[in-house]
Amino acid sequence: MKLFDVYPINDITIERAKDSYVWDENGVQYLDMYGGHAVISIGHSNQHWVKRIEEQLNKIAFYSNSVQIPIQKELAKKLSKLSGKEDYQLFLVNSGAEANENALKLASFHTGRKKIIAFKKAFHGRTSLAVAATDNPSIIAPVNETENVVFLPFNDEAALKEYFQTNGTEVAAVIIEAVQGVGGITLASPGFLQLLRKLCDENGVILIADEVQCGYGRSGKFFAFDHAGINADIYTMAKGMGNGFPIGGILIASHIKPKYGMLGTTFGGNHLACAAGLAVLEVMEEEDLVEKSKQRGQYLINKLRKIDGIENVRGLGLMIGFDVPLGLKDLRKNLLLHHNVFTGEAKPNVIRLLPALTITRKQMDEFLDALQEAINELRSEQNIPVDEVSA
Ligand code: PMP
Repeated sequence: MKLFDVYPINDITIERAKDSYVWDENGVQYLDMYGGHAVISIGHSNQHWVKRIEEQLNKIAFYSNSVQIPIQKELAKKLSKLSGKEDYQLFLVNSGAEANENALKLASFHTGRKKIIAFKKAFHGRTSLAVAATDNPSIIAPVNETENVVFLPFNDEAALKEYFQTNGTEVAAVIIEAVQGVGGITLASPGFLQLLRKLCDENGVILIADEVQCGYGRSGKFFAFDHAGINADIYTMAKGMGNGFPIGGILIASHIKPKYGMLGTTFGGNHLACAAGLAVLEVMEEEDLVEKSKQRGQYLINKLRKIDGIENVRGLGLMIGFDVPLGLKDLRKNLLLHHNVFTGEAKPNVIRLLPALTITRKQMDEFLDALQEAINELRSEQNIPVDEVSA
């Protein structure tokens, strides 16, 4: 049986990982500036996390959600403390798409409405409603096509006001990433999010913050929405929540009251996933990782802005992107193959950095050196004078 290739893959086999490094089968070391696909929050194979999962595995890994599962309550308590979102209910699922699927469904149940506002270049996952709200027609199957989703331009206050003026009371939900990830690291302006909050309030619309990629401390606050000083009605989470163990969740504001039976899942909230999720929060608290993410991100952004050859460095905390000029289009490949550094990409020419929140100054410097060397190599290979590349 052949494997279906989920992504374009390279020939590297990763066998082992620790903190921000991974090693291939020959023991070659790579620096992971991509956090294993924006997932690693507290570092690969974090020992507290390993121990918690191991202990839980030896007790019980799974039993149906029809019994008391105290570790779910422990997780909710810790999440409430670290996020400051005490007055919310937690519903645990298994992935980012599942979190968004349930958030959108719940908004529709709550409002009795069908329309959804999403944004250009948004990515919300690949299940039916989540993919329908994703701005990528090539991944939307005919059965998922719906007239109920409208894609408005990101950060465009005039377009938002205009749409709300004519359609506001038909809208069930607005779903937005405060920092678009797959879309290329684009920051929503605080003013745009505040306007969104106001228009949602005036029209009885549920505001969903997709924090699957930008949340869980990555942006330098627990949720990226927090930078705008507003609350969402529903927060969706996954990726960093389990540090590689599949777990997702949604936080539901107290004014939304899902009826029994509206939401459900077999595996969501299983003992093992909760142990992983709890370990992540314990390490985040112990090591003050939200604050560290802010400081480390600022360091990296400042240094990147001084690098000659890349453009438009932007980001929040350890969610950082920059543009790669055409002359250096092989930069990401060069970084991987010649400097053993994993980075992420976004179309058409963006490099995404989403390292573990535990990344050290030394590792960031190692990356910055590799980046400058890779740029120099590409330039000399192509014989491109310096000012022509950065023009
Ligand atoms: N929302 C956002 C913002 C994402 O970046 C992703 C994954 N790239 C998802 C949702 C979907 O998450 P998952 O792959 O866990 O379903």
